Amino acid sequence: MTPATNAPAFYEGKAKRLFRGSKGEILHEFKNSATAFNGQKKAEFDGKGELNSKMSAALFNYLRSKGIESHFVRWDSPNILVTRELRMIPAEIVVRNIVAGSLAKRLGLVEGAAIEPPIVEWFLKDDAKGDPQVSEDVLISLFDQKADLLKEMRTTALLVNRHLRELFTTVNLKLVDFKLEFGLDDQNKLTLGDEISPDTCRIWDSQSNEKYDKDRFRFDLGDLMTGYREIWARLVKVL
Ligand code: UDP
Repeated sequence: MTPATNAPAFYEGKAKRLFRGSKGEILHEFKNSATAFNGQKKAEFDGKGELNSKMSAALFNYLRSKGIESHFVRWDSPNILVTRELRMIPAEIVVRNIVAGSLAKRLGLVEGAAIEPPIVEWFLKDDAKGDPQVSEDVLISLFDQKADLLKEMRTTALLVNRHLRELFTTVNLKLVDFKLEFGLDDQNKLTLGDEISPDTCRIWDSQSNEKYDKDRFRFDLGDLMTGYREIWARLVKVL
């Protein structure tokens, strides 16, 4: 469904289409498509856009209640996240509490081992290059990023981790890892952007370690939406 503005999308990515709303707002229309391995694997899932937009809205709201500001303004039915416009920082920051995914592969580590204290990793946001892992120094010296902003991003990402971990624990879920993106608002204030959903987080059952996130799709571990709905059903009870 296209938002009511009738204007065409000004950007289309793998999981979202972006439209300009009134008052400088951005409408993020969450698509039902899922992609993995830099777009090589693709499929459509009924209800995914709605669920991910709802979950992102609820989690941004929760973080706001803990003092962490984001671009989030409101949610519009059925699959629209309305936000403020940010000038995005071309880096993805990943926080990890448990070994999984590219970290396990890169270092030959056993998936599931606890990481204490949690670690932060940086990736360059550049699809054409396959979002390579980079250091803070690379972002500063080669990609024109400001050291103090990266420091603030790191601190905020770890704070987000603390709050989300606490929330997920109360509903018997483990927050394994997740990716955040940040931007600067019209006051040049560092602000959390993008989305927080099972597309961008790894989330396991606390007891069984069953995977409820996008790894179900990446590695054919079971119906994707069954996992996403399980996370949402647990979270709505406490959000
Ligand atoms: N992630 C993401 N977008 C990306 C890459 C990673 O949202 O382009 C998320 C991913 O879902 C996981 C975390 O960031 O929750 C860490 O991902 P990892 O580096 O292990 O890469 P992956 O195995 O997902 O390729």
